[in-house]
Amino acid sequence: MTALPPGSTIGIIGGGQLGRMLSVAAAQLGYKCHIFDPHEDPCAAQVAGGFTRAEFGDATAVETFAQAVDVVTYEFENLPVHPLKAAGDKLRPGTRSLAVAQDRAVEKQFIEDCGGRVAPWRTVDSLDDVRGAVAELGLPIVLKTRRYGYDGKGQAWIRSEDEAEGAWNAIGDGPSIAEAGVDFSAEFSVIVARWADGRHTFWDSAENEHRDGILRRSTVPCGELVAGQLAEARKAAIGIAEALGHVGVLTVEFFASGDGPVVNEIAPRVHNSGHWTIEGAVTSQFEQHIRAICDLPPGSTELVGEGAVMDNLIGDDVDRWPALVAEPDLHVHIYGKGEGRPGRKMGHVTRVR
Ligand code: AMP
Repeated sequence: MTALPPGSTIGIIGGGQLGRMLSVAAAQLGYKCHIFDPHEDPCAAQVAGGFTRAEFGDATAVETFAQAVDVVTYEFENLPVHPLKAAGDKLRPGTRSLAVAQDRAVEKQFIEDCGGRVAPWRTVDSLDDVRGAVAELGLPIVLKTRRYGYDGKGQAWIRSEDEAEGAWNAIGDGPSIAEAGVDFSAEFSVIVARWADGRHTFWDSAENEHRDGILRRSTVPCGELVAGQLAEARKAAIGIAEALGHVGVLTVEFFASGDGPVVNEIAPRVHNSGHWTIEGAVTSQFEQHIRAICDLPPGSTELVGEGAVMDNLIGDDVDRWPALVAEPDLHVHIYGKGEGRPGRKMGHVTRVR
């Protein structure tokens, strides 16, 4: 593919905040964006030139959409894979990245096959399997549904044997994995942007703090302990991206453990832990994704200052907006999602240092 010229149209499947921030970055480079989403007023469509309202599983709608744009990308991973094949080779990244990332068992196996370290795990399909996993892996373990889990949803911890049944019922008694609890000192992510010809860039890695399974804060630069694990983590991340033939941004989340970096999960897309790059790096993750899928040259990923801290605005945190916008050095992002339900990501703020 040759570089897509300004004026071309980028189709984005998924209309959430990631699609919104991708659209803003694309607009800056002179591209138009067209959003595909089943909801009535997806927040990405508020800033994009076109919007198709259709179900993700509607292959005919995907095909029509793909014909109307020059390149197609996606902004979240819980999409049915088969209908997306209707986008043909306009789809970047391809369906392989999606298929691997959306099933935790396939994902873990794939990471192991790439030489990455993961927590000991088993697939579990019944309460008997869960009891077997407790016996083999020891305690604590965490059960995670194979599909449709995000932000700590579809997960339940087992800390003593008598919690096994309750945990199994809590995640819904369906195809799942059991994973040994990792004793980690910090969580961090490696975000890599990869081009079709194999060129790739990394950003500084953020150290991530979660509460109730949801990312609350990302801080760059990371601490010394994480810094000592970055070389190995980056090697794992680019190995995964290459094995997937991934084009665009890919995020790999890690635990910094005593044994080295342990991969928690991958996201075949821009990531919440990279939002700090909008103001904190020369080229943001959103712009770099657009550059990679449109085959423009890579932008610099150097820090603009010494670092950055990004805090999410979850649920009614966003009601604090008058005080936040009154802070002259704070970069405030509000996603235009309307109502601030508990646990919903409504915006974020970044301080560049
Ligand atoms: P996930 O949805 O897999 O990203 O999990 C959400 C959060 O739960 C992670 O960011 C960790 O803080 C925690 N967590 C998930 N899996 C494990 C594990 N195997 N050991 C320890 N903590 C975990």
